[in-house]
Amino acid sequence: MVDYDVKGHLNEVLSSLPQGVRLVAISKYHPNEYIEEAYAEGQRIFGESHEQELRQKVETLPHDILWHFIGHLQTNKVKYIAPYITMIEAVDSLKLLKEIDKQAAKNERVIDVLLELHIASEETKYGLTPDACRTLLADGEWRQLQHVRICGLMMMASYVDDEQQIRQEFHIARNLFDELKAEYFADAPWFCERSWGMSHDYRIAVEEGSTMVRIGTTIFGPRVY
Ligand SMILES: *Cc1c(COP(=O)(O)O)cnc(C)c1O
Repeated sequence: MVDYDVKGHLNEVLSSLPQGVRLVAISKYHPNEYIEEAYAEGQRIFGESHEQELRQKVETLPHDILWHFIGHLQTNKVKYIAPYITMIEAVDSLKLLKEIDKQAAKNERVIDVLLELHIASEETKYGLTPDACRTLLADGEWRQLQHVRICGLMMMASYVDDEQQIRQEFHIARNLFDELKAEYFADAPWFCERSWGMSHDYRIAVEEGSTMVRIGTTIFGPRVY
């Protein structure tokens, strides 16, 4: 039994999302029972950030769950998730992109990815600065990678109380998305995802053009590490 009202919180979040914004339920550090509760309500997209934890969940939970990898991914771990992962959200180097392409090819599939932006003021966060992101795309090598599909951008805003700062960071990401869309992906309808918004800031993120929110704590309660 789950002693936390996952159903109630999940439905509250879902009813607050406008049409066209999808929910990635972030289930890291939460046991299978919590995921099953959300699954029973119809939720199918879940996000995890650790390869081993994800592997255990994949083996024991329903096979029609769409798993997003949202954490920092080491290149040597790509091979483990390549057979089944639906989307890798936090690609922050050409090296990682090439490894995903290689492992996807081995599995005879195409893996959807997002490029992770670093806009937040915290120095600890991973991701590409806007300029590094521009350079990666201008360089053009990604065009040769037939087994990855770049579907948009992902970012985390600074973890601060200042709503203006958060909003401004989402806004920078949104503008960069529009710029890159026009420059490189005008003919690529799949380049359409803006993954921003977590428990504390997803309402702002939605106002700033998010298409995909990644929410954990609000749905499942505090994580037990
Ligand atoms: C953990 C995590 C989330 C969810 O955070 P909550 O505050 O629990 O909603 C979203 N995105 C990423 C990248 C995460 O690591």
